[in-house]
Amino acid sequence: MDHSNIWDKTKVLLKDRLPAHAFETWFEPIKPLDIIGPELVLQVPNQFFSEWVDMHYRKHIVSTLKGLGDGPSEIKYVISTEGTSLLEKTDDTVSVKHAKTTMQPPRLSVGYTFSGFIEGPNNQFAKAAAQTVAGSPGKQSFNPLVIYGGVGLGKTHLLHAIGNEIITNAPKLKVVVASSEKFTLDFISSIQKNRTAEFSKSYRNANVLLIDDIQFFQKKEQTQEQFFHTFNELYQLGRQIVMTADRYPGEMSGLQDRLLSRFQSGLSVDIQPPNYETRVAILMDKADQNNLDLPYEVIEFIASHIKNNVRDLESIIIRLLAHASLSQVDIDFPLVKKVLKERLGDMVSTDISAEDIIGRVADLTNVRTDEIVGPSRRKDITEARHLSVYLCRDLLGLSLATIGMHFGGRDHTTALYACNKVQTSLKTDKRFNRIVGTVKDDLSFAIL
Ligand code: ADP
Ligand code: MG
Repeated sequence: MDHSNIWDKTKVLLKDRLPAHAFETWFEPIKPLDIIGPELVLQVPNQFFSEWVDMHYRKHIVSTLKGLGDGPSEIKYVISTEGTSLLEKTDDTVSVKHAKTTMQPPRLSVGYTFSGFIEGPNNQFAKAAAQTVAGSPGKQSFNPLVIYGGVGLGKTHLLHAIGNEIITNAPKLKVVVASSEKFTLDFISSIQKNRTAEFSKSYRNANVLLIDDIQFFQKKEQTQEQFFHTFNELYQLGRQIVMTADRYPGEMSGLQDRLLSRFQSGLSVDIQPPNYETRVAILMDKADQNNLDLPYEVIEFIASHIKNNVRDLESIIIRLLAHASLSQVDIDFPLVKKVLKERLGDMVSTDISAEDIIGRVADLTNVRTDEIVGPSRRKDITEARHLSVYLCRDLLGLSLATIGMHFGGRDHTTALYACNKVQTSLKTDKRFNRIVGTVKDDLSFAIL
């Protein structure tokens, strides 16, 4: 029996022993890759997934495998993004790489496509540039293309999407993908093994070179030298080069000037954190992909708390799925809050600002935010202002003077007056209680 047969049999047996939801969630996405010695190699979508499967289902899998007879009796996970590179390391699996991954270049992650990349004002330009490059690599002035921006915003996704698009449309083109760390390691090991010529060849044969996270070249003089030559050679041949970086290349320190000026000779495009609507769209898409039926309020709730990182949005979805699948519970607000809190810990407290509170109060009282911080003494506006001041004090612990500044430069005695007034009203006023309760529910769980 080969690895596919063994895995199919294992799944059939496990299907009867596990809840259907858990089976679908955790077993359908696994792909058997190979058998190496006593181990069945399984490809899983991400690190979290492998940890989860390992913790909860390893025993089931192993005992089922043993029950099947002489085949593999242990399992090993390979994360799909890195799948081929991990396999590459073990000499006796070289054949696997060639046989099973046909046209897929090593390290090119299949899952990262343009169609799976949700577009918003934050990344539109970067996506358009990436698509243009993928459509006619090396043929326009976007060479090199540098995609830069903060962590978890989709740079690697776009880089791999370019590769996937090219191998689909032009399978003859050789696409080489590497992180700058991988490039560095390859270079170092080629020196150790006296194989620098092979190293050069493997990179300089590329029609399209995709290098992730060039900031890791910082301070590595000899590697930079090597990369400079690779870059020039490819560039002169009209080959496409795409790189990602954590900041605008011009602002990177520890890189040689001539390298920086090469990097800036093409097009640099940035990706910003997604706005609220884009976050909602991304969450809906990820939930959909995972067959997770999330109420819209829950999606909105997550989107209003996780703002700066798409990877965090994604991991919340995976965690919700994990909780729901393991304990067979419905996904409701308490569960979502628990998961958010687990994931973000205290980070959220710094994420909530006076503006968030004022915004929330504005929603609930139908008074505009500019009215809340403005001079008007109309009753409903004053009330909303007092509530906001009270909540800033209560939830954020801001000093009265700081609060005064957020409210159009009022002084601390005004802030104190508002706090006392709300405190008194809360004893009797149901509406005040409801508003304060709602805002706290929405914002405070992370500050507790
Ligand atoms: P970076 O390289 O910028 O740190 P990644 O490309 O690794 O970020 O993105 C982190 C995760 O978020 C990936 O799983 C990626 O698929 C996902 N992601 C980022 N941006 C988007 C987007 N616009 N649409 C869909 N998924 C996205
Ligand atoms: Mg990345």
